[in-house]
Amino acid sequence: MRDFYVFLGPPGAGKGTQAKIVAARMGIPQISSGDIFRENLTNQTEMGILANKYIKVGELVPDDITISMVRGRISKADCARGAILDGFPRTPAQAEAFDGILKENGCRINKVPFIKVPENVLIERLSGRLTCRAEGHVFHKVNNPPREAGICDYDGSALYQREDDKPETVARRIRVYEQQTRPLIEYYMERGLLVEIDGDRSIDLVSAELTKILLDDEGNDV
Ligand code: AMP
Repeated sequence: MRDFYVFLGPPGAGKGTQAKIVAARMGIPQISSGDIFRENLTNQTEMGILANKYIKVGELVPDDITISMVRGRISKADCARGAILDGFPRTPAQAEAFDGILKENGCRINKVPFIKVPENVLIERLSGRLTCRAEGHVFHKVNNPPREAGICDYDGSALYQREDDKPETVARRIRVYEQQTRPLIEYYMERGLLVEIDGDRSIDLVSAELTKILLDDEGNDV
């Protein structure tokens, strides 16, 4: 049985940062739907150009495009032992479609950590966020600066401010989260999969708690 983990939380909660750390510890891939869209935009694919129309204004990319993109991604060989998803699913329709895709493939969701952070902290984090061009590593101008200004510590690529991290778009994204993604908390709670995590702490404390929850003492999936 392949186990998948869905990291849930508002934009700026730390899903991407934490998913990268925990996935590396677990030896499974981290799949960020936002990173895949941005990669497609960089490569000027038809899907990337279309998705960017929604991304740049803080709206969600339509479900059909997003679902087929994730379906393709999780069928790749590197997901043979499962994966951590960050930023997907983001709507009830995506969550239902994802359950169907996993069932068809004999897989399941093992746990859904919900990373909770107060709104004022989200705004402060997103407005200071710096993202790397190559692999989407994230830093913060004040709270988590790169060793060398403007350069990613991990791959040496240039850091930039995402267009959708500008204040007007941040406010829109938080509203979209409240309306379209928040219902997933109940969806996964009803299925006994939700685990609430206090995300308003240091990166190390949050990743230590997540690792403890997702791995047992021997390093096996719980
Ligand atoms: P993220 O990198 O997760 O903050 O995503 C950036 C943007 O990509 C979002 O604001 C959406 O416009 C789009 N996006 C990412 N994941 C999804 C998804 N699961 N469904 C719809 N749109 C998405």
